[in-house]
Amino acid sequence: MYQAANERYDTMQYRRVGHSGLKLSAIGLGFWNNFGSVDALATQRDIVRQAFDLGITYFDLANNYGPEPGSAERNFGQLFAQDFRPYRDELVIASKAGFEMWPGPYGDWGSRKSIIASADQSLRRTGLDYFDIFYSHRADPDTPAEETALALDQLVHQGKALYVGISNYDAEQTAAIAAIFKDLHTPFIVEQPCYNMFNRKPETGVFPVLEKLGKGAVSYSSLAQGMLTNKYLHGIPADSRAQKATIPFLHPGVVKQTLTTIAALNDLAATRGQSLAQMALAWNLRQPALASVLIGASRPAQVIDNVQALANLDFTSTELAQIDAILAA
Ligand code: NDP
Repeated sequence: MYQAANERYDTMQYRRVGHSGLKLSAIGLGFWNNFGSVDALATQRDIVRQAFDLGITYFDLANNYGPEPGSAERNFGQLFAQDFRPYRDELVIASKAGFEMWPGPYGDWGSRKSIIASADQSLRRTGLDYFDIFYSHRADPDTPAEETALALDQLVHQGKALYVGISNYDAEQTAAIAAIFKDLHTPFIVEQPCYNMFNRKPETGVFPVLEKLGKGAVSYSSLAQGMLTNKYLHGIPADSRAQKATIPFLHPGVVKQTLTTIAALNDLAATRGQSLAQMALAWNLRQPALASVLIGASRPAQVIDNVQALANLDFTSTELAQIDAILAA
């Protein structure tokens, strides 16, 4: 029987999501990879327990996470039933709909039909009564934003979601749907973009819009899928994401192109007394719009390493300039 660590709230920081009342753990755990039917459930259990024991309260799911799609929600449901049910009110659990999930015209994108059916499926797979945040996973160019917004608003009215979020919306799409949510009085609080040292688009895109609107952000792939860590400095490990046949999103060729940059960032992190992963997460958290930075993890030790980022979140202007110079080289 799992008993959460008594000291779990001692070191984690909690940051407000925009002007909402909700706070998220500054580091959140993502279930995109490493929690599928191809991954050992015992390791998944160890990772999630480790995360909660260190004060991570934000768990980020989506309908299609696996592989196979749906299996991450099913596995989470099993871990939740075994370990976390007593802690439900200490957790913020999110899911999303918008990427391809089931065959035919209704298993994808942002129609009312897709969003409502997908949310119901996600609740069944996880065994939850409600999600704390339910996201539109991407803007749908063929569905009016009003329709997607109304579907998310309906989930709130039905008690299936407490808050609403959007992900992968650009600045213009964010401003447009935010105006609709405002009219509807929907509790829309958060955008989830990809943001890390290699992808700084949100700095001139969604972050200023979110700050103006009083909304928050959560960054995904905060470690560029593992490239912003020390794991690839001495070769590409066989069990890494870049090598895994089950994960087609990171290739050895891409990793190799970044190695000079990674080595220089790793040296700079060492001068700050941090691992590269810790420096990369701290660097993300300097953005005021960000309530939480999501991490993926294939083992509990990575969660421990990453949470220690919070021990040094300050950057001198010289360090920031050095990082800019390394990234520009
Ligand atoms: P990261 O950028 O954090 O990459 C995670 C990978 O980095 C791990 O699987 C691991 O690789 C490696 N890693 C993590 N910590 C360390 C460490 N301390 N030392 C060495 N290696 C480390 O995140 P993801 O790309 O996985 O994204 C995080 C979450 O964001 C997802 O799970 C999901 O919830 C969300 N997301 C949302 C998207 C959206 O469209 N909204 C899209 C993508 C992600 P390895 O497995 O090789 O050990």
